[in-house]
Amino acid sequence: MTKPAIDFLRAGKRFRIFSHVDPDGDALGSALGLAWILHAAGKEARVQLAAPVPRMYGFLPGQPRFVEVSGSVPDSGESLAILDCTSPGRLRDLEHQLPKGAPILNVDHHADNTRFGNAVHVDPTAAATALLILEIAQDGGFQLPAEAATCLYTGILTDTGRFTYQNSDARALRAAAELARLGADPAHIASHVFEHRLAEAIRLLGRTLETLELREEGRVACICVTLAMLQETGAAAEETEGFAAWPRSIEGVQVGVFLREQDDGSIKVSLRSTTGVPIDGVANRFGGGGHPAAAGARVPGPLEEAKERVLRAVGEHLQARAR
Ligand code: 5GP
Ligand code: MN
Repeated sequence: MTKPAIDFLRAGKRFRIFSHVDPDGDALGSALGLAWILHAAGKEARVQLAAPVPRMYGFLPGQPRFVEVSGSVPDSGESLAILDCTSPGRLRDLEHQLPKGAPILNVDHHADNTRFGNAVHVDPTAAATALLILEIAQDGGFQLPAEAATCLYTGILTDTGRFTYQNSDARALRAAAELARLGADPAHIASHVFEHRLAEAIRLLGRTLETLELREEGRVACICVTLAMLQETGAAAEETEGFAAWPRSIEGVQVGVFLREQDDGSIKVSLRSTTGVPIDGVANRFGGGGHPAAAGARVPGPLEEAKERVLRAVGEHLQARAR
């Protein structure tokens, strides 16, 4: 049911769009895609981020036009759209900045979405939030400029792992075809997202793959990035996007784990699983969340202790399922 979202977008004149911290292709693609759609409808739109757009997503159209990087949110009567977020807590520090009483549109595809906001469009069967933005725009008769198509295509491309994950269904592929028809260039987008790598990042990947450890008779694989590795290779933390897919890609591995040490000493955990082994419950145990096949959390350091805690939880999860 796209009607509440359509009514919300029709009613507002000025919009401020948010997505989750450590934004990925779907977070940025759905936010910028919606900004272009609102702009084409003659409305004002801003995309507010707490940190600058990661380098690899610099090609997405709408920057700097719509993007505002700031830690404070003005209280100026805008309608808010919060995209690809289980709860406003995913905005981290910005959550406490949201103007009290501002109307909120919540569009998301996480099953554990808390249904916050005044207009809610949550559909866990959708491969990406960007797909939901497309469907809302189509149902509402909104015009979709080519720039919006580029942004939304990027969200679907990245959240389906370039159409390789379980969620790469006919609906996602049809949406991608429609977005290509509307002006998204699949080869151009894929080259920016997957191939404009920095040499530093490839060196870091090499070192990261050397940390590979297998557990549970080869059913669990883990790789790690430390702050020292980032420093020694000169790669920025955001360049590790996509590393999490490597451990899961090993024959026989059911759960892949990627751990990254962060500036404050906490550890970012990324979990990836194969068909039939939902892993979001393990992320929940550490205060995180996500999807059955891709989930994440932040846990306290140091790295070695975090690794043992996470790998023990993953092992217990597999053993409980085997019983
Ligand atoms: P990634 O491992 O790529 O950061 O995230 C994979 C999935 O898990 C995404 O859907 C992302 O939104 C979700 N996720 C990652 N970290 C967290 C977290 O700390 N909390 C919650 N609720 N979800 C997370
Ligand atoms: Mn998403």
